[in-house]
Amino acid sequence: MGLSIYLMQKNQAISLLRRRLAYLENTIRELDEQAKLIIKSDMELKLYQQEIDDKLNKLTLIRNLIVSSIHTLDREKIFFQINEKVINDLGFKKGVILDYNNWDIKINVGFEPDEVMEIKNILQYKKDLIKETQLIRPDNENYKQLLSLLGTNEVLITPIKVRQNIYAIFLVSNLILHAEVEKPEEETLLIIGMYLSQCLDNISLFEDLYHTKDSLEKRIKERTNELVRSLRTIEVISKMKSDFISSVSHELRTPLTSVKGFSSLLVEEKFGKLPENAKERLIKIDENVDKLMEIVNALLDISRIESGRVDIKIVPAEIIRLIKDTTDFLSPQMTAKNLTLTLELPEKLNVYMDKNLIERALTNIISNAIKFTPQGGKIKIGCKKEVDKALIFISDSGYGIEKEAMDKIFQEFYRVNNPIIKGIKGSGLGLSLVKRIIETHKQKIWLESEPGKGTTFYFTLKVVQDA
Ligand code: ADP
Repeated sequence: MGLSIYLMQKNQAISLLRRRLAYLENTIRELDEQAKLIIKSDMELKLYQQEIDDKLNKLTLIRNLIVSSIHTLDREKIFFQINEKVINDLGFKKGVILDYNNWDIKINVGFEPDEVMEIKNILQYKKDLIKETQLIRPDNENYKQLLSLLGTNEVLITPIKVRQNIYAIFLVSNLILHAEVEKPEEETLLIIGMYLSQCLDNISLFEDLYHTKDSLEKRIKERTNELVRSLRTIEVISKMKSDFISSVSHELRTPLTSVKGFSSLLVEEKFGKLPENAKERLIKIDENVDKLMEIVNALLDISRIESGRVDIKIVPAEIIRLIKDTTDFLSPQMTAKNLTLTLELPEKLNVYMDKNLIERALTNIISNAIKFTPQGGKIKIGCKKEVDKALIFISDSGYGIEKEAMDKIFQEFYRVNNPIIKGIKGSGLGLSLVKRIIETHKQKIWLESEPGKGTTFYFTLKVVQDA
């Protein structure tokens, strides 16, 4: 009984031990599985790490290339960047860059001279097949000869282009690490090929720009010289014209003065009484002689100012007094036409001017305002100080001037083609003289006008600044 109890207990202990053993075995197996998993993940991680490192190296390679060639403007120097280090970083032992047109060697890393000769011959022959980056493997019938020559299974080729045309071929072979070319190598070579193309494109663009700028500069120089020559010719012709007008006017003045003397005496009947019809004609002759003298004098003045023969003295002088005196002198003509005059003048203003010439200018403009304003109209004359300028204006409520005529009225002999104006006396020389006077003072003259409403002439003079 005691034995059987003992055996029972033993059996129970053994089966407990067995269960524990099975449990332990299970745990060990699980641990083993996990250990295998960990080892596998670790290996995978290492592979990923390697891939990342590889990609990073290729990125660094591209970055270094960009940094070293970004400011290069020499085509050959662009290729010098592709040295042994670049080819190795790319993952290959050997590399060559060949000119696509004359097949000159631009760069050679690691190939024997006779190998390069063979590469040249083969590529030259297959020239038209090269279009984009391509990986050449033994299954490519076209390049079997090339692979066996280089004793490799894989070769990478990329074209380098300038403005879409192939300029050079970049070939790399003999991988350093792996057995097969992988995506990163292929992509990196593609990027390098594109980058070199971009660099060459930039150089061409820069050269174009430089040549354009150069030829533009040349053309501007030529044009400027031509203009200077034309200007000189114009100056000579203009001087000849002034001299001619001046001498003709001068020659005309003496006989005209004599004609005027006699015509006045005859009109005044100093040589005896005249028949009525003869007197009428003589009055016409006398008036026309006046008109002729006016033209001759104006022409003489214009040519004198133009040729600088008149003695011009631009000195500080008081303009307000001059405006008032000129207005006073012309007031009988205003009264005769019943014109209302308004003056807008400060008390005093000193300007730089030749008093005689400015008086002539004022007389001409105010006379025009009187001539071209109908009976009962208004005239306003004023002067304002604007910073360092005196702005003088003469405004009338007269016939006004059409827009097209406004640009022309400063030309010699120009008179507005309109029946009312045609009926008013004038030579068409007054404003031409005025313009020259103001320009001699290095100042500006302009006008505003509205047909039927009136005209305002403006001109400036330089103000004498108080000390
Ligand atoms: P002239 O008065 O002797 O004809 P100007 O050279 O002084 O010559 O003037 C040229 C032309 O400009 C005049 O014939 C006239 O048609 C126009 N003109 C000048 N001043 C005025 C004015 N204040 N109002 C209207 N027309 C004018």
